[in-house]
Amino acid sequence: MKKKNLKIGVLALQGAFIEHCQILKQIGVDVREIRLPGQLQQLDGLIMPGGESTTILKLMHGYGLYAPLKQLISKGFPVWGTCAGMICLAAKIKNSQQSSLQPLESMDIIVKRNAFGRQVDSFEIDLDIPVLGKRPYHAVFIRAPLIEKVGSEVEVLSKLNDGVIVAARQGNLLVSSFHPELTADTRFHQYFENIVASQRGEY
Ligand code: GLN
Repeated sequence: MKKKNLKIGVLALQGAFIEHCQILKQIGVDVREIRLPGQLQQLDGLIMPGGESTTILKLMHGYGLYAPLKQLISKGFPVWGTCAGMICLAAKIKNSQQSSLQPLESMDIIVKRNAFGRQVDSFEIDLDIPVLGKRPYHAVFIRAPLIEKVGSEVEVLSKLNDGVIVAARQGNLLVSSFHPELTADTRFHQYFENIVASQRGEY
């Protein structure tokens, strides 16, 4: 698995993209901020950050990113959606007032927006994420969504103590309800880097 010269983009339309860029740089990835469809071609993978999914999806349509990204994903292009980014990748969104909000429908998950309550109900917790090793992973949840249902192809990576699913993978797609870019722990970014390296040249 060659990790040299991997180019990973971070969707930079709205939300916490700068923090993702900083961690990717720290682990030695060639990082690009992505705003336009033409920029997708040079990439080996993409992170869709947390923020406001309604805004991100609207801007993706406005900038002409929605259709080309959806097509690339269907060919095996690796994408990791964190928080709002996870909502954008889902097959279906629950708890969305805006009926016009159509997600990419790329991953076989149903997500519930703002599932833990309002902004004040944000929280931090140590999670067990076996694919990252034995050491607990400190996760920051900000007005987070949860994964209500997963399809048969989806691998559940982490659950809260009450059984609620908060991280999952389906082949080239990775999602997390929380914000791994807001902690100093680089293991989740390295896990995605490995997915990107293993998919390189496959699509
Ligand atoms: N509440 C936001 C949404 O529904 C997600 C919050 C986040 O990304 N931290 O899009």
